[in-house]
Amino acid sequence: MPIFDNHIHLRPEFRGVEAAKDFERAGGTAVLLTHSPYADIPIRRAEDYDRAYGKTLAMAEAVRRATHLQVFVALGPYPAELLGLQGTLGLDPAVEAMRSGIDQAARFIREGRAIAFGEIGRPHFPVAQEVVEACNGLLVYAMGRAKELGCAVVLHTEDPTPATFAEFARLAAKAGLPADRVVKHHSTPLTRLEDNHGLVPSILAKEDLVTEALHGGPRFFLETDYIDDPQRPGAVLGPATVPKKTKAWIAKGLLTEDQATIVHREMPERTYHIEIR
Ligand SMILES: [Zn+2]
Repeated sequence: MPIFDNHIHLRPEFRGVEAAKDFERAGGTAVLLTHSPYADIPIRRAEDYDRAYGKTLAMAEAVRRATHLQVFVALGPYPAELLGLQGTLGLDPAVEAMRSGIDQAARFIREGRAIAFGEIGRPHFPVAQEVVEACNGLLVYAMGRAKELGCAVVLHTEDPTPATFAEFARLAAKAGLPADRVVKHHSTPLTRLEDNHGLVPSILAKEDLVTEALHGGPRFFLETDYIDDPQRPGAVLGPATVPKKTKAWIAKGLLTEDQATIVHREMPERTYHIEIR
């Protein structure tokens, strides 16, 4: 049975490949390894993205060599990076640097080395209105590139309400990107189409969230958002959580095998246009 973790971060200087092996040992088969900032590669200008993405791509390759996992990659400028860039460059050049970060990610997606833009969007904490507007502009730009490349985008934003989902659906429509190619990472369990407006929620693998999500049906992803950071143990779920919980929920009848197949095979195949083995 395929078991897919839709949002995981791995760092070679921390547990890296070992965390991926924990996932595999527990029964996991595929991950979306998502780019996020590295302390040793601070983004000070547009050129830094290439090296930062290179580190994520190398991590993916290291996991492929050491395991049988399918490792898919999402690349993009992390939303909060705009604030650091704004501090050193000013807002407009900061936006230009992030746009270049999107273009560099697009190049890797075109080459088939990554399958989605992510995580992109806007800071999950309150920021100035001009920053929100700049982030929304960058998001529409990335969605337009995703439409052109035929790929998906993975959103990092504040926790969504139906109104937030409606807003992102409008931005996607503006860019011409179908809503079902927009994934909301760290989502609230809003699985009914009238609540999520066709976007795809990706929810933490926690029983209360999954129970609620299933009321609207199995149209969602499971994720750990494992951050592989020894400074913040327990900040998110451990790397083996998705396979362990999926099996436990099937065993206790919370999740049917058909629903698990939809979550772990059909949703990734449909959303990212990939083949899950
Ligand atoms: Zn993340």
